Amino acid sequence: MVTGGSGLVGAAIREYVEGTGALENESWIYLNSKEGDLRNRADTEKIFAKYQPTHVIHLAAKVGGLFANMAQKVEFFRENILINDNIMECSRIYKVEKLVSFLSTCIFPDKTTYPIDETMLHDGPPHPSNEGYAYAKRLIDTMNRAYAEEYGCNFTSIIPTNIYGPHDNFSIQNGHVIPGLIHKCYLAKKDNTPFTIWGSGTPLRQFVYSRDLAELTVWVMREYHDPTPITLSVDEEEEVSIKDVALAVAKAMQFDGQIVFDTSKADGQFKKTACNKKLRSLKADYEFTSMPDGIQQSVDWFVANYDSCRK
Ligand code: NDP
Repeated sequence: MVTGGSGLVGAAIREYVEGTGALENESWIYLNSKEGDLRNRADTEKIFAKYQPTHVIHLAAKVGGLFANMAQKVEFFRENILINDNIMECSRIYKVEKLVSFLSTCIFPDKTTYPIDETMLHDGPPHPSNEGYAYAKRLIDTMNRAYAEEYGCNFTSIIPTNIYGPHDNFSIQNGHVIPGLIHKCYLAKKDNTPFTIWGSGTPLRQFVYSRDLAELTVWVMREYHDPTPITLSVDEEEEVSIKDVALAVAKAMQFDGQIVFDTSKADGQFKKTACNKKLRSLKADYEFTSMPDGIQQSVDWFVANYDSCRK
């Protein structure tokens, strides 16, 4: 059972499983908020009683951009705490064999050294802008270990870096960097205006294509049995600048107009490199989709689904 099955990662898991990823004896269920509000214990119990899942991939979360995180720390903390507590406790009660939940690199300590790895999650306070979200997510890791110690549960978590792909939220104001750039470039091409990138374009990021993340998440569910988190990310050498990403978006969109960097806008953190050594020790040869290919597929999906996608 996949919670948050209608979102960016959930849709990618569904496409992977319905493509080549399913095993013969499996049947998959994808939840969205219409099926029940996971903040609500009674709704969550009903879902577990109805489907009796043996394995749960837990994606559902209250997620948002910087502004929303700063303005609603109480809601980001409480709603995620409620959702995560309901999913973990129902997974224990209904004897789920494996629970895999999602953390994020943005919940790591604000003041740290790079690259960051799985052992550093609790080594200092998160950035004040998203502390509600960050502490709620960090407690998933604490509770995974507690459930293992006290009840022998097989619960673990995944730390993805920046995710992009089809079915993303392409909002320019509230979305993440790649979907925002894709939407802006689409409008610049349509309106014959410059493609303006916020900031200098120099910050570095690791991006993981949603379909790669989907495949690796299903692998974690089947084969990674340890309560400590595992980072799912491209290698450190694959870190790219926002400028490179913008140029790849322009190429994929066949945009040949002017590209402008608006340096009056903030750049954010220069880099937040994550270490994927644990993943590489278990899956040394996994080949990630190249950024130009992933961006081309995301751009093609956005253009084909412009009228109906989240934006
Ligand atoms: P999306 O925002 O695309 O999707 C969120 C999903 O959660 C939707 O299916 C939504 O259902 C569901 N949901 C939200 N609130 C509730 C609720 N109260 N009850 C039931 N369902 C709910 O998320 P992503 O796919 O981007 O993210 C998946 C996970 O990965 C999250 O845990 C997130 O924190 C984490 N993550 C994401 C990153 C990214 O770059 N996107 C980076 C790092 C971590 P509905 O569609 O019906 O509203």
